[in-house]
Amino acid sequence: MGKPFATLCGRIIRDANPEEYPSTEHRNKKIKLCSQSCLDSFLEEPTVLCKVHLKSEKTAQQIQQELASVLDSWRKFYDSSKKSD
Ligand SMILES: [Zn+2]
Repeated sequence: MGKPFATLCGRIIRDANPEEYPSTEHRNKKIKLCSQSCLDSFLEEPTVLCKVHLKSEKTAQQIQQELASVLDSWRKFYDSSKKSD
């Protein structure tokens, strides 16, 4: 039984041994990841994964905005195709 700890990818892990999770160092900070594949993708593109996780709180809102703009352009497309008829 250990203290709860957070992985870089945003998971909070309770009642587990931190030693059982993959870890590495990045800019003199020790970081943990939830799985070996998570660690592998971090090692491949450390800055990308850090950025993605920093942005993760905004993601839902960003996706909604993107969907809204996609729907909007579809509507314009349909409107213009009606006009050409
Ligand atoms: Zn992970």
